[in-house]
Amino acid sequence: MLTLHPERMYLFPAMIIIPLIFGVLMIIPIGGADMPTVISLLNSYAGLSAAAMGFVLDSKLLIVAGALDGASGFILSVNMSKAMNRSFTNVLFGAFGQEQATAATGQEARPVHSATPEEAAAILAAANKVVIVPGYGMAVAQAQHKVRELYDALTKRGVDVTFGIHPVAGRMPGHMNVLLAEADIPYDKLLDMDQVNGDMPQTDVALVIGANDVTNPAARTDASSPIYGMPILDVDKAHTVMVIKRSMNPGFAGIDNPLYYLDNTLMLFGDAKAFVGNIVKELAGNSGGH
Ligand code: NAP
Repeated sequence: MLTLHPERMYLFPAMIIIPLIFGVLMIIPIGGADMPTVISLLNSYAGLSAAAMGFVLDSKLLIVAGALDGASGFILSVNMSKAMNRSFTNVLFGAFGQEQATAATGQEARPVHSATPEEAAAILAAANKVVIVPGYGMAVAQAQHKVRELYDALTKRGVDVTFGIHPVAGRMPGHMNVLLAEADIPYDKLLDMDQVNGDMPQTDVALVIGANDVTNPAARTDASSPIYGMPILDVDKAHTVMVIKRSMNPGFAGIDNPLYYLDNTLMLFGDAKAFVGNIVKELAGNSGGH
């Protein structure tokens, strides 16, 4: 049995406060984007503490279960970092200074073409084939239901609409599939990267909704890029690319995206849910075939 020594009770607040401060300080430098890796790591810590508790309580079950949890959580964290083409230490300590490093490249001054919801709606309505590429921003904005409305509005006009799903779009495996399924988008319209890339040159409009890294052509062309070699959705090969995002800020990898400066790219600046909602309103107010 554990016994509490009253003379040591004064240590109790310190034992609560010091780990609390340590926990907050450890999490602060980690970019919000790395949250799945961090959750998995914290899960691993919980396993280790359960194992330690097992030693204190002399419980073999707790030791074995805690050790399993601790080890598997750690292995999963390391594997997730590898899948994102980043080192584990970079995930844990890499967020500080990341923005400055990108700013130092000085690419913000390059001009981009932007468009309004009315213009975007007109381009979409005139298209025959549209590929929608969702990413983390669609999840943040919870725009999937508006995306469904857009899908309905366009298919009603006879536009062929499919979705290009990148395996690491979002922040967890299957993130986009789950959200689009929640919005009742037909599953056969969700195409994986290889299926969709072959058709990209025949695609009138690639509509990127809150995705960034998974569409970055630097992964194909720039050997110095941290995402070089990562397979991407070749949206730049579509006739017109439209990108919904709030700013020119980078995505998870913290790097600039040359896609935004191409002549065939239109930036649609705004929150994904609001912007898609406005496009849908435009299409509804202007219904009819093309
Ligand atoms: P991303 O590269 O992180 O880009 C997401 C974009 O969404 C941002 O550029 C952001 O731009 C925009 N955004 C954020 N909130 C928005 C809103 N409310 N409305 C509109 N846009 C919004 O995302 P991704 O292209 O999906 O790529 C996923 C990245 O996460 C990859 O680098 C992948 O390696 C990594 N990752 C994936 C997993 C996984 O298992 N899927 C796990 C961990 C990490 P603004 O700020 O300008 O709006």
